Amino acid sequence: MTKGTYWLEHAWLGDRVEPGVALDVADGRITAVREGVDAPPPGAEVLRGLTLPGLANAHSHAFHRALRGTVQVGSGTFWTWREVMYSVADRLTPDTYHALARAVYAEMALAGVTAVGEFHYVHHAPGGTPYADPNAMGEALIAAAAEAGIRITLLDTCYLSAGFGEAPNRHQQRFSDGSAEDWAARCSLLKEHDHARIGTAIHSVRAVPAGQLATVAAWAEERRAPLHVHLSEQTAENDACLAAHGRTPTRLLADHGVLGPRTTGVHNTHLTDEDIALLGGSGTGTCMCPTTERDLADGIGPAVALQRAGSPLSLGSDSHAVIDLFEEARAMELNERLRTRTRGHWTAAALLRAAGADGHAALGWEEAGTLEPGALADFTTVALDSVRTAGPLPRLGAETAVFAATAADVRHTVVGGRHVVRDGHHRLVPDVPQALARAVADLRA
Ligand SMILES: [Zn+2]
Repeated sequence: MTKGTYWLEHAWLGDRVEPGVALDVADGRITAVREGVDAPPPGAEVLRGLTLPGLANAHSHAFHRALRGTVQVGSGTFWTWREVMYSVADRLTPDTYHALARAVYAEMALAGVTAVGEFHYVHHAPGGTPYADPNAMGEALIAAAAEAGIRITLLDTCYLSAGFGEAPNRHQQRFSDGSAEDWAARCSLLKEHDHARIGTAIHSVRAVPAGQLATVAAWAEERRAPLHVHLSEQTAENDACLAAHGRTPTRLLADHGVLGPRTTGVHNTHLTDEDIALLGGSGTGTCMCPTTERDLADGIGPAVALQRAGSPLSLGSDSHAVIDLFEEARAMELNERLRTRTRGHWTAAALLRAAGADGHAALGWEEAGTLEPGALADFTTVALDSVRTAGPLPRLGAETAVFAATAADVRHTVVGGRHVVRDGHHRLVPDVPQALARAVADLRA
């Protein structure tokens, strides 16, 4: 709707669950939040359950969805998994990537995600030849998000080398623009849309030579755009960086002006105390991807220490082993419980802030992630009467959502005032499982 009212049976207002809340919406934004509205006003769209601000999936590689359920048999490491991932990357075209991303983003909408940060590095044709439109792949992702009804921040990723002083391997040639300057020239051609913002990324300190890091940082700084970077996911990256530069990846980024409040380190798993102080002290964010980190046997990052040092937390489903932001949120807390053998590191409210307002801010959507006048009208409703969520009192809705619900409990998703998921059905992509099955089959044939 462009103008109208949603009536929320229960609403999460950031610090409490409030029964009976009317949200007035106009031109894609919330214009009023009215509490104490016991019954739906005439003509209002009724959302039964607990309505939360929309969830931000701050770290995604859409094509990894084609690997779900595979690469689980036998042993292996992050690096052997990467070989299988590259075999899928080799097959992507603008058309097949569009079809897969549309289905994946529709799956996200069904999981309550209203904005995705797509960490995008498959830029060119296999071998590295640019497409006639050099941004054909990025544009395919932006179009896919529009068709799935969610917002996207395209984190266009600079990826130039296989490792320190190593040219891209044959899989990686299509990721590379040759130099950070050529990367910047291509990125400058990308256009923003109502649903799409352009951000940037440094794939990792392995993939961008130190002498070119500042070029990416300057491009982001000039546009006040988000800048994301995979950081210390694997100890091998730290070892190689120490051997090449005599300093940790975090220190290297700090020395080249990459850290700051618009920058987000993704994973931030294997850090020194100095790294944590550098990230926190600069206000650099941390995006944890716990379901992927456990799937790939990465380790558990020091999220508590990072947040305490000043690093805001966000969450991402990264490789899409599952797409479920509730699971990401509780996994961050539960990992910490297992590691420390104590409970209660984050409240449900804090975890929802990571999945909501702080995740949106990491993607450059500062005006989303809260239910308040002026915010984007992006929200999602979790059933409180499913087999997983029935029982607890509604006032414990935040705890129920974070510690018991799954993506399957999402009943409604509204983006910019538009009802994208209604009663568990996607209104723009009618058969999401079939769309996923077809798109994945095309890439794994
Ligand atoms: Zn990633």
